[in-house]
Amino acid sequence: MRNLVVRIVAGVLAAAALAALGVHRDKTWPLVVAGLFLVLYLGLVMRRPLRRIRAVSRPFPPAWRKLLEENVGFYEELDAAGRKHFERNVALLVADHEFEPVEGVELDDELRVLSVAGAAVIFHHLGIEPRVRRTILLYPDHFDDAYDVSKHGEIMGMVHRQGPIVFSRRALRNGWNSKTDGSNVCIHEWAHVLDMDDGFADGIPVLAGDTEHWDEVLKEELERVRKGRSALRAYAGTNRAELFACAAEAFFERPGPLKKKDGELYELLCEAFGFDPLA
Ligand SMILES: [Zn+2]
Repeated sequence: MRNLVVRIVAGVLAAAALAALGVHRDKTWPLVVAGLFLVLYLGLVMRRPLRRIRAVSRPFPPAWRKLLEENVGFYEELDAAGRKHFERNVALLVADHEFEPVEGVELDDELRVLSVAGAAVIFHHLGIEPRVRRTILLYPDHFDDAYDVSKHGEIMGMVHRQGPIVFSRRALRNGWNSKTDGSNVCIHEWAHVLDMDDGFADGIPVLAGDTEHWDEVLKEELERVRKGRSALRAYAGTNRAELFACAAEAFFERPGPLKKKDGELYELLCEAFGFDPLA
């Protein structure tokens, strides 16, 4: 909001300076240019805020609510105020992101809502929003390293540091359909986004407090996963960033087993996501 005010004031001052020049030299054209500049500039600067205002001022679409009720276990558990907050965030996230269907996928409300629901889950208690606005690419199925969809494709989703998020539509649906298996590509990729929002994909999320303690716990947990002693799936042992993203899936979908087996990590995740699902 402060940035927006600064930008508006800067634009008005620039236009006023140009207009003053016109008055001073007794010319008309600087006044015309200043007026045109101001209209174009404000149109550009206000485009996103207006889109967001429109998104939250209209009633939340009942079809979107049904999608959340049917797919998002986290939303089901919320009270009325929590659901309202969640719905508002979903509306803002849909308004804020570009969606690009790929290879014959037809973009619809289901894909829009299910693509951003992971962000609404991850950021629900944090009081912040994803820092970078991204394009969300939707592939029909799993894909390979060359982004080709084939029967050999194993990738369900990915996110680039400052770039797009890519989802396999099949993986996205499967992730939400099975609510307690600790596997959800949408939560996984948005957890990467939270991790990257401080500029580093290091497994330590943006609001982490004692980063040295995080460092120690992640190191120990990596060892535990690699030795098969953790509640997390084997892929979590790839590196610290994947450990955090897989841990987020488990935290939101299977918090009980996670707390039992990986208590220290669980405590840190409560801090990272601003709440304790078992409390
Ligand atoms: Zn990952």
